[in-house]
Amino acid sequence: MLKIKNLHASVEDKAILKGINLEVNPGEVHAIMGPNGSGKSTLASVIAGKEEYEVTNGDILFEDKNIEELAAEERAHKGIFLSFQYPVEIPGVSVTNFMKTAINETRKAKGLEEMPANEMLKLIREKSELLEIDRKFLSRSLNEGFSGGEKKRNEIFQMAMLEPKLAILDETDSGLDIDALRIVANGVNKLKSKDNAVIVITHYQRLLDYIVPDFVHVLHNGRIVKSGTKELAHELEEKGYDWIKQELV
Ligand code: ADP
Ligand code: MG
Ligand code: MG
Repeated sequence: MLKIKNLHASVEDKAILKGINLEVNPGEVHAIMGPNGSGKSTLASVIAGKEEYEVTNGDILFEDKNIEELAAEERAHKGIFLSFQYPVEIPGVSVTNFMKTAINETRKAKGLEEMPANEMLKLIREKSELLEIDRKFLSRSLNEGFSGGEKKRNEIFQMAMLEPKLAILDETDSGLDIDALRIVANGVNKLKSKDNAVIVITHYQRLLDYIVPDFVHVLHNGRIVKSGTKELAHELEEKGYDWIKQELV
């Protein structure tokens, strides 16, 4: 599904990614870990096609096609979802209405007609039941006064509605309380299938107690310096990142 080859990327002329190789197949969950500043969010942004980041070398293939020339929006339409790529706060626009618009825009981009209202309602009901999201939440203004857990709930709801092929969840280093962790993990576990893939980016091993990854990669100074299975995450929890840095010397 996703093939990253020798990817180099910079931001404001500063080289951040220095030769990333990564292959993600349908049905897989990959965790990307690594110390602060190692380039995790940059990698997520580059895959999603954020404009500030410049690919200086290498390739990103999605379903065997090079996506380098595609704008973030076009990548989203192809089925790449990056958490928090949507506007932070929109007073007066409900969680549901925002989602309806997003879905219909995606359909329009694919040359499809708007989703019929009854079909939309069915989809909303199905996904909100799956994720145990209550109706009151769906009618709230997007992100307005949302707690950390509610932001996560909204993010996971967006992911559920859009049914991406590849979901990238960049769990920032702060603000993930146990509630929010469970919401994210629960959502990922319920939404994963043999046809989609998830990349979970996290600084902490904690999240991986709930989402069991098939592969764990450690990013350090813009390179994947170690890959393994979930055991690697436990090793990192125990020993921190320093031993990996020492192995590299
Ligand atoms: P991580 O997510 O692993 O903590 P980041 O990808 O956020 O790491 O950052 C990697 C490096 O790139 C850091 O040195 C950071 O300061 C820099 N960086 C990231 N985004 C930007 C940006 N938009 N402008 C300038 N520097 C950036
Ligand atoms: Mg950071
Ligand atoms: Mg980050």
